[in-house]
Parts: sequence; C-alpha cells; structure tokens
Amino acid sequence: MSSGLYGAIEAGGTKFLVAVGNDPTHPMDVRRIPTSNDPQETMAAVTAYFQQHAPLDSLAVASFGPVDFVRKAIGKTPKLAWQNFPIVDTLTGALSVPVILETDVNAAAIGESLYGAGRGVGTFVYITVGTGIGGGAVIDGKTLHGLMHPEMGHLPVRRHPDDPLDFRGACPFHGECLEGMASGPAMRARWGQPAETLPPGHPGWGIEAYYIAQACLSLACILSPHRIVVGGGVFSNAALYVLVNEELARLVNGYLPLPEVVPPDLPLPALTGALAMAGAAARR
Ligand code: ZN
Repeated sequence: MSSGLYGAIEAGGTKFLVAVGNDPTHPMDVRRIPTSNDPQETMAAVTAYFQQHAPLDSLAVASFGPVDFVRKAIGKTPKLAWQNFPIVDTLTGALSVPVILETDVNAAAIGESLYGAGRGVGTFVYITVGTGIGGGAVIDGKTLHGLMHPEMGHLPVRRHPDDPLDFRGACPFHGECLEGMASGPAMRARWGQPAETLPPGHPGWGIEAYYIAQACLSLACILSPHRIVVGGGVFSNAALYVLVNEELARLVNGYLPLPEVVPPDLPLPALTGALAMAGAAARR
C-alpha cells in the first residue's frame, strides 16, 4: 500500500543530506550525516534514518560524481573508499524500496527547472563552482544522459592572457581545464586566499568570469539552453554574474541569442530535485 511518502539523499563528499516528504519544496524532515571514509558507516546511519520513516514509496539519490549508471554505483571518485560503492543495491537491500540514481548536478538541474531559476524554459543548464565544477542539463523535463553523464567541469578553456604563468591549473587529470582554472582550489592556489575573501575589483574576478563565460559559450553552442544557472561557493559574489554575462556577450560576438546566466533560486537544489524525481517515480 502506498504511504504517499518518498525520500531523497544528496550524497556529497563531506556530508549526506537525507530527507523525506511528499512535497519536494517542503520536505518534512532534513538531516545531515557526515560522509565517513568508511561507506558502511555512513550508509548505516542513512538507512537507519529512512527506516524510521518506513514504508517509503520510492527513494532518489543525487550523488557526487562520477556516477556509474551501469553498475548503479559511485564511479572513479578521488574518495578512494567510495570508489565502485554499490549505493543503489545497498539501499534497495536495506530498505526494500525502488531507488533512482542521478548525479547531484543533474538532480539540481531538475530541482531548479521545476521550482527555481529554470522554471518555464525547455532547455536548461545548472553549473556549480566550488571545490570542483560540475554541471547538469534538463531538456524538456528530462536530465541529459549518454555514455555516462555530462562532465561539464572538464571542458577545455583558453588561458586568460593575464593569468599568472606559473599557475598550471588544479585538475589532476587535465591541468588547465575549466575545473583546473576556475574551481575554488584553483582560485586559492593562484591568489593565496579563498575566493570568498577576494575583494571586489580584484583581477581574479575578471579572470574567473572569462573561464566561466567560455564554458557557457561551449554549452550554448552545443545545447542551446534558454538559461544557465551558476551556483556554488565561488559564485556567492553577486558581482560575478555581471562580469560573466558581459564576457559571454563579448565571446558570442553577436552570433547567437544569449542565454541568461543567473544565480540559483533554491537553497538545496539537488535535494529538491531528488525529492521531485522520487515523487515522480512513486506516481508512475
Ligand atoms: Zn579536468
């Protein structure tokens, strides 16, 4: 029998957020569980939480990437203890509930497209710029998947002429990719302080905008989104949106209609998106 209740997990590198409810925008209960180096320990706390609210109709996981959709597991994450961890089988086994797996950024794109800054548009991209850079896309209500899932953080970018030459990028795989040049650790490595503490007018902001605008141009050329939401810790500086939109206009050079680059609307877009996906699965 249906309980009308569904659950969601936002699985992150430092914490798991877990929630249950029947309205994605107003979960009944949200709990934070630290991400341990022992996946079994974290998952024991996660399953205990959902057992308190059993029975659930469905559960959706918005996971840090990369995600292995074939094995329904965490992929080749630098968090070695979590590599190949079979998160869906673990949850299904413990809770006897259908489990949906999605990337955190695709789930965030769903959340924002249904309830936030992406409402009312058909093609929509969500990017987060923090410790890493990730992106998800929603096209006509569905998240974009293919061979795996989009990895927008590793788009190639052209070096800014004023970027310090001794900085060779922070990505361990590609050096000077988007994440290598524009993530929080890249800002910190270059300027010696966290992005959040860089003063307005610091040259680092213009350089940051140059890289993010290049990613937005690539995404505009490939997916033609109506709107691009950019969130994450580095974008807590509201002035950065003005710089990115100006830089994007320069790069596009009149050739394409410009997607707007805007901040997110939701406080927890990935968790909201996961709840929405679980709700949709429960209704099927
Ligand atoms: Zn990279």
